[in-house]
Amino acid sequence: MNYLKEYNELTAICPKTYIKYSEPMENHTFIQTGGIADIYIKPKHINDVQKIIRYAKMNEIPLTVLGFGTNVIIRDKGIRGIVMNLEYLNDITVNENEIIAGCGASIIDVSRTALKHSLSGLEFACGIPGSVGGALVMNAGAYGGEISYVLKNAKAITLSGDILVLNESEFEFGYRKSIFQKENYIILEATFQLINSDPAEIREKMDTFTALREEKQPLEYPSCGSVFKRPPNHFAGKLISDSGLQGTRVGGAEVSKKHAGFIVNVNHATSTDYLMLIQHVKETVKQNFDINLETEVKIIGEE
Ligand SMILES: Cc1cc2nc3c(=O)[nH]c(=O)nc-3n(C[C@H](O)[C@H](O)[C@H](O)COP(=O)(O)OP(=O)(O)OC[C@H]3O[C@@H](n4cnc5c(N)ncnc54)[C@H](O)[C@@H]3O)c2cc1C
Repeated sequence: MNYLKEYNELTAICPKTYIKYSEPMENHTFIQTGGIADIYIKPKHINDVQKIIRYAKMNEIPLTVLGFGTNVIIRDKGIRGIVMNLEYLNDITVNENEIIAGCGASIIDVSRTALKHSLSGLEFACGIPGSVGGALVMNAGAYGGEISYVLKNAKAITLSGDILVLNESEFEFGYRKSIFQKENYIILEATFQLINSDPAEIREKMDTFTALREEKQPLEYPSCGSVFKRPPNHFAGKLISDSGLQGTRVGGAEVSKKHAGFIVNVNHATSTDYLMLIQHVKETVKQNFDINLETEVKIIGEE
């Protein structure tokens, strides 16, 4: 099935929307790998999001949502059906000590907006390269902070096209977990509840976190951040470095020499290189420590 008919129909249903047929996903992932998506669409309005979701449901077409692609590996065979990128839903507004951000806004921009308005709570996010939607889904966190501590409510849409507003009691946040993941809700907007604070203190925290990232992370190469979740009572990076795996390569993918929890694209890696290296790391850590590493990064696309 090549979805050309569906591409033409969607073009007619959402005439002013950016839509491409047969789009290479390597252009839309941070690690610069991934095969072709049949239909790639970037709606500008919630109405169009709703139309696309309903069209996909009615015609039983698989629908995948992508943020900034910083936490995904898309297999080399690509993605069948529709990939919907919501980066155009990126408004950021400030209302006293709340920030309301579209799911396609950069979480880094939201944390900088907070600083500009002397609002504290999002300093931890100042170096997380994803979108607001991706950050909520993953309950992104760093340096003692995480989305769950600051999210007041979220507007989401179900795979039937119904819009919901969820509040604190409904998020089911855990370590890299949320109701959004569990129920496949598509996030449209987030309201963050922050506290007024001294901007110099906020800036200092952000500068410290940035310096720590620059010191510890291989930011000079494409990567998807920490590949593995933290196993209970251990650190994935330590298990990997104690296994002597740093510098191990498959094709163009390498276990970072700087941070063992990262796999970097050092030389035109493919997603298959990444997946083979991940498998090798898992097997080696299992053999050495009898611990099963689980991927934090989302692996999607046709097998
Ligand atoms: C250098 C580097 C450093 C990083 N540091 C950190 C860190 O310190 N802490 C941390 O937690 N993470 C970190 N990450 C990982 C990543 O940036 C976060 O998980 C981020 O929140 C993912 O956002 P994204 O927009 O890129 O999501 P994507 O990678 O595009 O998607 C991730 C998942 O979210 C889903 N998704 C995206 N948008 C939506 C939406 N609107 N509605 C529903 N589902 C959606 C996708 O379907 C997918 O399942 C890092 C990554 C890199 C490359």
